[in-house]
Amino acid sequence: MAKILLSKENLFYNLDVISKKAGSKEKVAVVLKDNAYGHGLIEIGKLASEFGVKKAVVRTIDDALKIEKFFDYIIILAEKSFHTYSHTFHIVINSLEDIKNIPENANVHIKVDTGMHRNGILPNQLEKAFLGLLEKKITITGVFTHHKGADELSTNFFWQKAVFSRVKEDVKRICEKLSLPLPALHSCNSAALFRTSDFNEDFARVGIATYGYLDNAGIFNFPKLKPVMSLWANKLSTRELKKGQSVGYGGTFTAKENMIVSTYDIGYGDGFLRLNEKDSYTTPKGYKVLGRVSMDNLSLNTDEEKVCIFDDVTALSKIHDTITYEITTTLNPNIEKEIV
Ligand SMILES: *Cc1c(COP(=O)(O)O)cnc(C)c1O
Repeated sequence: MAKILLSKENLFYNLDVISKKAGSKEKVAVVLKDNAYGHGLIEIGKLASEFGVKKAVVRTIDDALKIEKFFDYIIILAEKSFHTYSHTFHIVINSLEDIKNIPENANVHIKVDTGMHRNGILPNQLEKAFLGLLEKKITITGVFTHHKGADELSTNFFWQKAVFSRVKEDVKRICEKLSLPLPALHSCNSAALFRTSDFNEDFARVGIATYGYLDNAGIFNFPKLKPVMSLWANKLSTRELKKGQSVGYGGTFTAKENMIVSTYDIGYGDGFLRLNEKDSYTTPKGYKVLGRVSMDNLSLNTDEEKVCIFDDVTALSKIHDTITYEITTTLNPNIEKEIV
């Protein structure tokens, strides 16, 4: 089977850069949703905790339960059924209707829609949300928002920041009025954290930077991070392709002269997105993917036993006209992980 190697050194390097930018390790909540962006929920959870990160963000309670022992503060972004509950869990409400589903005595983070218009209550519904939650003896431990374009050069980032500043003032006013302690206030994902020169929120929710990427880093002069994941495949078979013979579905690669070709055990069924004759992809050692990637195989012009397919997904994300997030997150969670 193909394998994912996770570089502990690179992960720790990234977490160090992130913690320094945020101010301390306490100000980092590592985002582990979707199997830690394909890197392995438990593996990354354990390593991040070993580094000293105490907060995590996941999608569901099932994910939170898997990493509960590593963290003392876990934000759950999108859960609707509460079969288990722990005091380390902080449930996100994405609308006023969500309040009725939250179990009594739970900790809640209120998401506020400051302009993304995807999830969250409106800024003018804050007081209503506070009162509705208090009625159910729910503890409001956080109020937060999410940026729609912190990694893009536009004014969105600044006006959402301005809207959230007003939300913070409102939260302070409401808490004073109701004699409540001030909840944690947070708005930054990776790009927003690195775009903020005077970061002073309670913590940042950092996903992609943890894994070594910041899309559009060039535009913003972001620091260079180190990709954590590399994908390795094993050889299945080798043959000589004679001049004029072609390889794979559609026979779209034809040998110009006799050459050695081997097949490796990774394909789009493993989440390594399909490449075809329009794409040209070269592995870090300079081998070319020949013809089309099939479900469980791809062909390279080498006979090495083990080949590194990628150690940085930036080039692949460009080929597939997507973002680095999608390339790593799409990898099949069953691919074995090894920490090196
Ligand atoms: C995914 C997510 C993040 C992390 O975003 P990155 O760009 O990967 O840092 C932060 N907050 C919320 C609410 C998210 O859904």
